[in-house]
Amino acid sequence: MSECLFCQIIGKKLPAEIIQEDNKIIVFKDIHPKASVHLLIVPKIHIISLNELEPSNQNIVFYALSALPKLAKAQGLTGYRTIINTGRTGGQEVDHLHLHLLAGDDLPGF
Ligand code: 5GP
Ligand code: ZN
Repeated sequence: MSECLFCQIIGKKLPAEIIQEDNKIIVFKDIHPKASVHLLIVPKIHIISLNELEPSNQNIVFYALSALPKLAKAQGLTGYRTIINTGRTGGQEVDHLHLHLLAGDDLPGF
């Protein structure tokens, strides 16, 4: 089975503007930013969406959320919006669980 887009970025088979990474998550810039700061926080484990989250890997969501304050501070942000889209009808395009971090004066309305 072919790897999903984000697994290919994680495996460095596709390029991305990587901001930071460790053994559990990778953070890179969204290719089509919806605000002046638009980062994607992506667990390295392939989980399709929140709908597929199992008890054995639920800690990764807390880990990814916990990375946000330090990440935002490093970007000089005092506030930000976090979004997780789930399923096509929830606006999810890439079937690999990820968090959006959006910030800036041009933050779109909710
Ligand atoms: P979703 O709609 O699944 O919540 O978010 C997927 C995001 O991935 C979108 O905001 C889209 O702009 C971004 N994206 C899609 N393809 C690529 C890519 O090849 N590289 C990067 N950096 N972002 C991508
Ligand atoms: Zn994947």
